Amino acid sequence: MTFPEFPFPPFLQNPAKDLYIGGRSRLAADGRRFDTYNPGTGEVLASLARGSAADIDHAVAVARTAFTGPWSRFTPAERQETLLRIAKIIEERFDELAMVESLDVGAPLSRVAASKTAIGRVVRYFSAQALQCRGETFASPYQGNVTSMILKAPVGVVGGIIPWNAPLYSIWWILGGVLATGCTVVIKPAEDASLSSLLMAEVIADAGVPEGVVNIVTGTGAEAGSALALHPDVDRLAFTGSTATAREIIKSSAGNMKRLQLETGGKSPDIIFEDANLNKAVPGAAMGVFNNSGQICYAGTRIFVQRSIQQDFLSRLAAFTGSLKVGHPFDTDTVLGPVVSQGQLERVMKYIEIGQNEGATLVTGGERLSGDLAQGYYITPTVFADVTSTMRIAREEIFGPVVSVIPFESADDVLAMANDTEYGLGGAVWTRSLEQAMRMVHGIQAGQVWVNCYGLVDPMIGFGGVKNSGYGWKGGSRHVDGYLYEKAVTINAD
Ligand code: NAD
Repeated sequence: MTFPEFPFPPFLQNPAKDLYIGGRSRLAADGRRFDTYNPGTGEVLASLARGSAADIDHAVAVARTAFTGPWSRFTPAERQETLLRIAKIIEERFDELAMVESLDVGAPLSRVAASKTAIGRVVRYFSAQALQCRGETFASPYQGNVTSMILKAPVGVVGGIIPWNAPLYSIWWILGGVLATGCTVVIKPAEDASLSSLLMAEVIADAGVPEGVVNIVTGTGAEAGSALALHPDVDRLAFTGSTATAREIIKSSAGNMKRLQLETGGKSPDIIFEDANLNKAVPGAAMGVFNNSGQICYAGTRIFVQRSIQQDFLSRLAAFTGSLKVGHPFDTDTVLGPVVSQGQLERVMKYIEIGQNEGATLVTGGERLSGDLAQGYYITPTVFADVTSTMRIAREEIFGPVVSVIPFESADDVLAMANDTEYGLGGAVWTRSLEQAMRMVHGIQAGQVWVNCYGLVDPMIGFGGVKNSGYGWKGGSRHVDGYLYEKAVTINAD
């Protein structure tokens, strides 16, 4: 099969990629490497250095030195200007960044290209936050010329651990806070998708960020990831990934009581009332789960439909889902690319089998693509009906293009089912009734709730999770506070 011709990204002309520490590429201390694959073809895409505890030690020491070096003398305005320069270079080099991300993650190139605006918005938002690192003063309770204040200072060296589903975007929820506040960072990208993080490090260096401020150590979670979480000289850890790994990280971080920010998994409810505008609710709910082939933490994987419209909704959902083009990420009409890896493919196919064995009805999808695309990790978008809240497909995070449709009778009924989950990341409601919408907004236990839309993220308000979906807010005015520590200062000026 031939795909549209694109110039191979210059960054990948040399497919051997090393660690990025102190502004230079370096081999892993023990020289080991591992391969990363192109999910669209199943072929090896690049060879990465396999960082270990020794490399994490090195990167953290470099980040510690950089923390007190020239970077510490950047004024807030200079940090802001630096972030604005980064935003500009990202825009200039976005075609290459998007192509690398698409080849590595399998996301359709058109989808990644469309994220240019969103990523630029996040970087520019954090440039403004560089000017918002502020403390407080208080009227002193003491007699005399006494002033009480809270100063804020950068916490120091940050460890950032990110997943593979959208690294080009998710890395900025860590780098933004780091660069706005004057911290330094060691990033451990996911083993299945490290390339755009390495390219982003080049962009950051081009914008004038001093050496050692941003370091990237590729490698496995068990080695490099866990060494970073354990490291005694890392002050804060920002983690995005699965709930199971977050639990490990909480334990690993105990040694030096790292400050933690954890964004984890979800099983988000998407609630369709009988008065919803189905012309909007059907595509909205479908893309609320199938976007990025279902590999989005807040994907609306449980669609609750009021029983009176269940049949109509299901037939429309099946028709819409069946019309979604699954294909090579570089094909311009592709809506769903492959899932990220062979392992993820097997995991999702296993859940499709589990759903059928549990007695759910497979309405559409559920197949791995064959023919020209057989070597890639392509799964057709899958709708299950007759799902009950006790089934595993309705309780466990699948992280693939699979949705469970569950009927409900009343608002009380659906809230009880929607909240009957260990997760609390996202949720949505589709209705024309303000009363019903507000009831759901107040009733859904989640860090973000959408009304008559799904998945819109605004860096001004940010997002977070409750329950086993993590803690610590990303975005919004409180974000930079996580990268600062408070210092109570009392001054007797007499
Ligand atoms: P994962 O937890 O397996 O891996 C995430 C990162 O943690 C990777 O870089 C991995 O190498 C590292 N890691 C693994 N074990 C580790 C350990 N013991 N110590 C330190 N680091 C370790 O998750 P994944 O499969 O890469 O990503 C999918 C998960 O991420 C899903 O659960 C998804 O919901 C979640 N996610 C959450 C958000 C959010 O903002 N809430 C966003 C995207 C993805």
